[in-house]
Amino acid sequence: MASFAEAAAMRRAIALSAAGIGTTSPNPPVGCVLLSPVGRIVGEGYHERKGEAHAEAQALAAAGPLAAGATAVVTLEPCNHQGRTPPCRQALIDAGIRRAVVAVIDPTSRGEGGVAELRRAGVDVETGLLVGEAEIVLGDWLAGLRNRRPVITWPYLITCHGFGQLPPDTSEARQLRLNADAVLGADGTIREAVPGSHGKGILALQDPPPGDGAAAAAFLYNGGVRRLLLHSGLDVAAPFLDAGVVDHVVACLPYGNASSRPAAEAPWPLLPPGFAITATVRTENFILVDGQPEALSSRPARSLHL
Ligand SMILES: [Zn+2]
Repeated sequence: MASFAEAAAMRRAIALSAAGIGTTSPNPPVGCVLLSPVGRIVGEGYHERKGEAHAEAQALAAAGPLAAGATAVVTLEPCNHQGRTPPCRQALIDAGIRRAVVAVIDPTSRGEGGVAELRRAGVDVETGLLVGEAEIVLGDWLAGLRNRRPVITWPYLITCHGFGQLPPDTSEARQLRLNADAVLGADGTIREAVPGSHGKGILALQDPPPGDGAAAAAFLYNGGVRRLLLHSGLDVAAPFLDAGVVDHVVACLPYGNASSRPAAEAPWPLLPPGFAITATVRTENFILVDGQPEALSSRPARSLHL
């Protein structure tokens, strides 16, 4: 049974892991906090980029000798493979970690991952702590494994003139880019969402084949993209909507009373058919409305026939 201190540390690890969103792909964003035997934080870290130190290695480096006898609280099962960096389970064992508390089990480990090896080495391991909260950050990476495509977000502007591209120089557009790996622009070309954020050459970005949203999404997944932003108008987004591969839409309504007449050119008043409001927030320039596909049971057919 995880202690109160371990649960609190897991929430901190989850928050830290979010610092890797938009930079770790195709790796997962992971956070790790190390607790002393009396529950004091002695080290913490997160994975920032593929090819760089994993969260556990960052935390171990921060803790130094204080890692001996500590508890590792980590949002994803420690890795068990020798890649660009040594396996984290071995680093934890070598540092003298006594106990590990893990939220999400890596679905690619098939029971032969870091947890099994840690137990074999005599480390006390508990799994499944705060899985739902950890998946707030890891969910997109897990969805990518299941669906073999990126999680796709389409922001758009709604005015009295109809639908348009969210202006790229707004704070809202910058915010969305920070949380994406790659942007598919209005001209149909793909680029890194924040130039240089993934390290040189990590994402293999090539313009996707036009026309088929599902094929383009799979193509970009194979290039390492896990979070895709469609920074475009409806023309570029339509094949992805038609294929049912848009996971989030962000409707941006300028506030004030500028839209005094109905948006006659817009195909929908707010959200595409089959999408429901999941959040709204007022930002610097807009009312942002986050929409996601309605639950499968109530989701209508998602063909737009534009
Ligand atoms: Zn690792």
